Amino acid sequence: MPSECVRLLPESPGRHYAMSYADFRFYEELNDFLKKGQRKQTFRVAFDGQPSVRTVITSLGVPHPEIDLILVNGRSVGFDQPLNHGDRVAVYPMFESLDISPLVRLRARPLRRTAFILDVHLGKLVRGLRLLGFDCCYRNDFDDPQIIRRSRREHRIILTRDRRLLQDQGVQHGYWVRACDPDAQVGEVLMRFDLIGQIKAFTRCTLCNGALAGVAKAAVSDRLEPKTRRYYDEFWICTDCRRVYWKGAHYQRLAERVRRWSRKRPAEVI
Ligand SMILES: [Zn+2]
Repeated sequence: MPSECVRLLPESPGRHYAMSYADFRFYEELNDFLKKGQRKQTFRVAFDGQPSVRTVITSLGVPHPEIDLILVNGRSVGFDQPLNHGDRVAVYPMFESLDISPLVRLRARPLRRTAFILDVHLGKLVRGLRLLGFDCCYRNDFDDPQIIRRSRREHRIILTRDRRLLQDQGVQHGYWVRACDPDAQVGEVLMRFDLIGQIKAFTRCTLCNGALAGVAKAAVSDRLEPKTRRYYDEFWICTDCRRVYWKGAHYQRLAERVRRWSRKRPAEVI
């Protein structure tokens, strides 16, 4: 952590400091990462020399992938902007559903391709998102460097409950999942990335992420239990792992979950 050159100062107007200082204000969910006294208010940070805005923000515990816009004295800047004495810095989270195109976005490319990679602790969230048709890469034996490499290579957004993973300088797109309950996590991700309109339920294999395709009953008949063969006529097959799907006993329960998620509004999640 490059924090030696950065320390927090209490608000005490009139007192003279030998070091330089800048005033910071973080907006919306970025406050989740700050200490209590720093949330939703302007606070002062002291520093030596001219650290980059990124250095100071990282030292405060806010992962850079969560940030999409930084204003210094009202002007949008990049992460490498050197900090000067007396600067006023406003830091905003990713505006997935707002148009801020006239300003400098910190991402190299917009996050409109909705593909995710999830850390090893989010297996249930993976299944929920795949059920809704979202492209989710997941393996329960991935380590952090593997997740980061794959995220960069395939332009996938990292979803994690581990803030330290997002602090890694190699992370380009990432989001810290706040909710603990898997059901609430699905709702949170839908809202955060404005995905309701992109739901394509029952189009993806929940086990392996492969696409599902309709298949003739005759083609899979020898793989079915006798009762399944007798009562069902519509089947789908995973184009990757060849698992066969049909609207069996669990279907109604899953369909109800899909309906519930599809009706979500921001107020229900936040
Ligand atoms: Zn599959």
